[in-house]
Amino acid sequence: MYVIKVGGALGDELLQVCDDVRVLVERGVPLVLLHGGSVESNRLGQQLGVPSRYLTLPSGIRSRYTDRSTLDVLTMAMAGRVKPQLTARLVQCGVRAVGLTGIDGGLVLAKKTPPARAILDERPCVVRDDLTGRVAEVNTELLRLLLGAGYVPVLSPPVIDLEVGPLNIDGDRLAAAVAAAMRATHLIILSNVPGLLRDPARRADDPENLVRRLSLGDFADHLELAQGRMRVKLLAAQEALRAGVDPVILGDGRRASPIQAALAGQGTTLTADFVPEELAS
Ligand code: ADP
Repeated sequence: MYVIKVGGALGDELLQVCDDVRVLVERGVPLVLLHGGSVESNRLGQQLGVPSRYLTLPSGIRSRYTDRSTLDVLTMAMAGRVKPQLTARLVQCGVRAVGLTGIDGGLVLAKKTPPARAILDERPCVVRDDLTGRVAEVNTELLRLLLGAGYVPVLSPPVIDLEVGPLNIDGDRLAAAVAAAMRATHLIILSNVPGLLRDPARRADDPENLVRRLSLGDFADHLELAQGRMRVKLLAAQEALRAGVDPVILGDGRRASPIQAALAGQGTTLTADFVPEELAS
């Protein structure tokens, strides 16, 4: 069982994944595909006069500030633009893809993040109205029902808090939670970089700049390398590895056959490197 996430920063390039999905499905590998929608949300927000705003948390992590109108834009971008485009391309490739948000069938139950100190529009404040959450529970039954009948679920935010309503959620952490809940063997996260770069300011195509393998024990040293969004990917990878998903691969979604390339070790392969106790002594 594979969980594959294609990042929203890829824009239209995320369609590159479709042929590879068909190959895996033909080989009989059950998989859940997740997608983001950051570029499309920014574009739609501009068209609708709802500019994107970002929060920086004390941990240094930047996330989209999601007030009510931003959540509307995000939902329209994910469910109205990216998902139908991706699902249509998959269906055209012969994959029985079914588009879902985390709301459908109560697929992903979440809890709204509590009020927190953050920097918004360069000003420190306590943010209370950010409609963003963390996964509380994944309804694996619905996913298994679809997979068992030969369908490929194509999942994205928003998700749902039963008390608050629809919420935005980080796509990488959602992918990690789905992989953990489904007991996936592989989590592949495709974005617009070759993988974890030692120095993101340096040439991304320099092979020396790419971290090829990383084990859970070495995570702390490498967390420093990753700023902003890549840091969230490492945290998501850590969550998945700790839950037994092994390996987690950060791959380049811009190239042809991005899944095959990631599986062949072209990106950053993260492993738990668990040594059975009897061998450890
Ligand atoms: P997606 O929409 O695919 O989830 P993001 O834009 O959220 O992608 O995350 C990928 C981005 O992380 C890259 O475009 C890059 O700018 C940034 N980044 C920060 N530090 C690193 C690093 N050490 N290696 C690779 N990318 C990094």
